[in-house]
Amino acid sequence: MHAYHVAIVGGGLAGLYAAWQLEQAGVEDYLVIEARDLPGGRIASLELLPLEPGATQTHKSDAPRCFDLGPAWYWPGLQPQLDALVRALGLEAFAQHEAGDMVFEHAAGEAPRRMPGYASSPPSMRLKGGMGALIGALRRRIPPGRVVTGQAVSQLRYSAGEVALESQDVNGRFTRHGARHVLLAVPPRLAVARIGFSPVLPDALARQWSAASTWMAPHAKYLAVFDAPFWRDNGLSGEGRSLQGPLGEIHDASLPGGEAALFGFFAIPAQVRRSLTEEVLRTHCRAQLVRLFGAKAAMPKLDVVKDWARESWTATDADLVAEAGHGAVPPAGIASGPWRGRILGIASEWSPRFPGYLAGAIEAAELGVRAVLGTRGQTSSREHSDANVRF
Ligand SMILES: Cc1cc2nc3c(=O)[nH]c(=O)nc-3n(C[C@H](O)[C@H](O)[C@H](O)COP(=O)(O)OP(=O)(O)OC[C@H]3O[C@@H](n4cnc5c(N)ncnc54)[C@H](O)[C@@H]3O)c2cc1C
Repeated sequence: MHAYHVAIVGGGLAGLYAAWQLEQAGVEDYLVIEARDLPGGRIASLELLPLEPGATQTHKSDAPRCFDLGPAWYWPGLQPQLDALVRALGLEAFAQHEAGDMVFEHAAGEAPRRMPGYASSPPSMRLKGGMGALIGALRRRIPPGRVVTGQAVSQLRYSAGEVALESQDVNGRFTRHGARHVLLAVPPRLAVARIGFSPVLPDALARQWSAASTWMAPHAKYLAVFDAPFWRDNGLSGEGRSLQGPLGEIHDASLPGGEAALFGFFAIPAQVRRSLTEEVLRTHCRAQLVRLFGAKAAMPKLDVVKDWARESWTATDADLVAEAGHGAVPPAGIASGPWRGRILGIASEWSPRFPGYLAGAIEAAELGVRAVLGTRGQTSSREHSDANVRF
C-alpha cells in the first residue's frame, strides 16, 4: 500500500485549502478523502438550472445562479487572510443588500412593525456565484486524482510510523490508504463521533474535541426564490426579525442582476424540526413571509429547507442543541503518545482566531500545512506561532 506523505480527511474549505497550499509548496504526495459525493462540506448551494425550470442542491457549484444554503458572508477588513484568498482566486465580492426598512414581528396576533434598518459595520460581504465559488475555484486548482469523494473515513490505525486510513463508500465497500501524517479537516466533535482511532485518543483530548460544538450544525435555512425583489419596491430591505417564527432572522439573498430571494434562519430547535415534514415547514415559512413582506411572498418560484442538523457528515446528536457561543478552541495536535506528530486538526473549529467561521477554516488549514511542511525539512514563510499546533 502506498503511504502518502499527507492524507487530508474532509474536503470542505479547510481540506481543499490545505490541498492547494500543499500544491503551491510543491508537495504532490497527498490525498484528500471526502465522505460526501461532492466537496464543500458546510458550503452548499442551491443552483437554478439554466435550461429547464427547477433547481438542484449541490455542494460544489459556483455557477452564477447559485444561492447559499450554508455560509453567505465574510468580513474582509476583519479577516484579511480569507480576503486575500478571495482575491487570489479572482472572485468578486459584493455587500449584503441592507438598504431600506426592516420588519419586526413580536408576538402572535400582533401586526409586524416596520422600523429603520441598520447597516452592518463593517458590511457583510457575499461572493458572486455564492460561497460555492470558493470551493469551485480551489477544486479547479487541485489535480482531480488528488481528491476522492464518497469515501467516509471510519478508522485510523497507527503502527510503525504510518497511519492506515480505512474508508467506506455508501455501499459499505472498504478502501485503505496509508499516510505518514493526517490532517483532520473534519470538525473535532464529528471526528470523535464518526472515526475510530487505534490506539485510542488520549481521554482528555477526546473529551475536549467532543465538547467543541460544530458551528451552525444545529441550524437550518429556508430559501425562497422570486422573479423580482418586490419588497424593495415598498422600501423594505428584506431584513426581518421575529419572535413568532418559524424563522427568527430573515435577509435578502438576491443575486446581483439576477433572481430575487429571501432567506431565513429557523428559530425552531432541531429536535422540533425533526418531527415536521419539509412541506409543513415551507408552508409556515411562506405564511410568515406574507405577514412580513406582503401577498407576493405567497408564491415563490421555488423554496427549500436546508437542515444542517440532519446532515450526518456535519452534525452529531450532540449538535441537536444549539449552543450560545463558539466555546473553547480544543488543542489541534496531540502532545504525547503514539499519535504525536501524526494527526493534526485543521477544520475551522480548531482555528485560534476565527473558530467556526470560513476564515477559521483558512487559518487552521494554513497552520496545519505549515506544520506538515516542517516535517519535510522545508521552511515556511512565517514562523509557526500557535502553541496548539504540534506535529
Ligand atoms: C447554515 C450555515 C451558515 C453559516 N454562515 C457562515 C457565514 O455567514 N460566515 C462564516 O464565516 N461561516 C459561516 N458558517 C460556517 C462555515 O460554513 C464553516 O466555518 C466552514 O464551512 C467550515 O469549513 P471546514 O472545512 O472547516 O468544515 P466542513 O465544511 O464541515 O468540512 C468538513 C468536511 O469533512 C467531510 N467529512 C466529515 N466526516 C468525514 C469522514 N469521516 N471522512 C471523510 N470526510 C468527512 C464533510 O463531508 C465535509 O466536506 C455557516 C455554516 C452554516 C452551516
